[in-house]
Amino acid sequence: MRGQARITESNVQDMLREVRMALLEADVALPVVRDFIARVKDKALGQEVVGSLSPGQALVGVVHRELAATMGEGVSDLDLATQPPAVILMAGLQGAGKTTTTAKLAKHLVEKRRKKVLTVSADVYRPAAIEQLKTVTKAAGAEWFPSSPTDKPLDIARAAVDHARRHYMDVLLVDTAGRLAIDEAMMAEIRDLHATLKPIETLFVVDAMQGQDAINTARAFKEALPLTGIVLTKLDGDSRGGAALSVKQITGAPIKFAGVSEKIDGLEVFDADRHAGRVLG
Ligand code: GDP
Repeated sequence: MRGQARITESNVQDMLREVRMALLEADVALPVVRDFIARVKDKALGQEVVGSLSPGQALVGVVHRELAATMGEGVSDLDLATQPPAVILMAGLQGAGKTTTTAKLAKHLVEKRRKKVLTVSADVYRPAAIEQLKTVTKAAGAEWFPSSPTDKPLDIARAAVDHARRHYMDVLLVDTAGRLAIDEAMMAEIRDLHATLKPIETLFVVDAMQGQDAINTARAFKEALPLTGIVLTKLDGDSRGGAALSVKQITGAPIKFAGVSEKIDGLEVFDADRHAGRVLG
């Protein structure tokens, strides 16, 4: 491609095929790859190639910028601008990392934003989940509101909000039940929790290792809830993290944070530009 002055239909085809392969290898869902390639082609065709760049290098630039733009829109921290307590509802499949992320966010809010943070678990199906949240909340330096497997999730939610209000907490983080597969009862329950809690943030926690399946999970949660943000977990794994692109495109919600270890300080603000490089490999 060197020596040509502009990106044309003929010199773009092979490159785009390679980009397509790279995205599929990174586990971006096929319909999302198709859309993306079409957008890049539109943007790239006819573009002048400046200076010493070859059309191939120029196209890589277009691809990288478009990937970063698709996955990110600058830094977006948690929105807490409401009458306290600002309620944050955690949603996602079982094993996605909701409880771990709840504690990581609690620590982030306590240390970086100097907030008084309360956590509560509305997961009445797994008593171990309630205990797990208690342990990690302590480690985060936040407060934990007790709940019991015999309580109803909505009652837990109301009691926790009431407690948070009376104790002047700034933020209430609500961890919820996940299931191995998406089922209607689970979605109805979290919709009810959302209606009762009226959270300012509804975060969808998704495992970056979930790969192609992430698109179906994301679609189901987007249909059930007005998502305000995404937390992509397990980015310390060896996946190329293509799920970021699929989930962002399907939900339209910003990817706010990335989980980068099992430890409580393993949370980073999502960096779309850096992640674009990883997805491309
Ligand atoms: P939940 O069922 O959605 O509440 O998921 P958990 O918070 O219990 O997490 C499930 C597993 O994933 C646990 O073993 C966590 O330690 C692990 N985990 C969560 N987030 C991360 C992460 O960012 N990186 C790694 N490596 N492991 C994580």
